Order: sequence, then C-alpha cells, then structure tokens
Amino acid sequence: MPNCPECAAKEKRKIQEQYEEETPEEDRGRDDLYKLFDQVEIPMKLDTATKHFICKRCGLYATREQVSDIRYKLNQREKTREDRQDDYLNWWQKSKKEKQEE
Ligand SMILES: [Zn+2]
Repeated sequence: MPNCPECAAKEKRKIQEQYEEETPEEDRGRDDLYKLFDQVEIPMKLDTATKHFICKRCGLYATREQVSDIRYKLNQREKTREDRQDDYLNWWQKSKKEKQEE
C-alpha cells in the first residue's frame, strides 16, 4: 500500500525538525536524515469497490494516480526549499572562507 503523501510529508518535516534540534550542524548528514525518512510508514487502505486509497489519519481519498501526483507536488516543494538552503549554505561558507583569508 502506498504511504499517504500528506501525512508522510508532515511526518518527515517533524523528523527533520527534531533531527536538527538534536544534531549539531557539523554532524548532520542528508543520508542520515533520509534513513529516518525511510522509517515513515503511513500506509493507506484500498477501497476495492471504488479503487481509491483512503488515509485513516487525514481522510485523504484518492486514486493511485492522484496519490503519486500529490507526492510529486510535495516533493517539488521540498526540493525548492532545499535548493534555497543550499544557496544560503554556499553563500555562508564562501563568506566564512573569505573572512579567514582576510
Ligand atoms: Zn494522510
């Protein structure tokens, strides 16, 4: 059964916040975070009569196509956020390096 994309995204955000709270910045790794993400399991139930998946937690009711569509859109949103963070990180590291060289 597919994970509920809405609930999984929410759960992942929570995991990330907790991870960033507990792990000092220099010890953080994206792979560690993804390993935690892999543990997220919010399987939806299949309604065989209508061929729709139902999430018991948030009540999402969608076909398999809609589920992948929602997941895709949520992933896109995550990605743009991460890209922005990378930009910021690059800028920050560069400015740090420049300061050391002065
Ligand atoms: Zn849900």
